[in-house]
Amino acid sequence: MGKFDNLLLKAKDLAGVAGNKAQEVAELTKLKLQATQMRNEIDSNYMKLGEIVYELEKNGTQNEELVNMCVAEIEAKLQELEEVNQKINEMKKVVKCPECGAESPAGSLYCSRCGASLAEKPEDQEPQEPDAPQPEAAEEAAPACPQQEAAQEAAGEDPKPEA
Ligand SMILES: [Zn+2]
Repeated sequence: MGKFDNLLLKAKDLAGVAGNKAQEVAELTKLKLQATQMRNEIDSNYMKLGEIVYELEKNGTQNEELVNMCVAEIEAKLQELEEVNQKINEMKKVVKCPECGAESPAGSLYCSRCGASLAEKPEDQEPQEPDAPQPEAAEEAAPACPQQEAAQEAAGEDPKPEA
């Protein structure tokens, strides 16, 4: 009897975990659908804007107000889409590269495509680049030992000393 109760509890636990996972997947699916719909809306807005500009040009007229309204609407929708995409990325546990837009696993320090830094840094700080190549300082330095240089010249093109 006790055994049965335990099994029942276990089954309920598992169902709860599965339910959360399913909920997460459903939410992600919903967000993706939303993003697709928004993308389609934006595309059709682009087309309408194109038609409006085309008609205006064809008729030799101007309607800056109308054009600006369309642009503002597209801007707002792009902003919304970006927010939805960000939510999707958070759920998928990926981060989007600010440089090239490629997605990398969350926690990545550098973009897997272009190598841009993905680490969050304060806005007001100059980004440090410790990996930047150092200028060749030794290039024009005078030889420390004139005899060694003479020996190198005698040896020809190869500056490596014999081991
Ligand atoms: Zn990148």
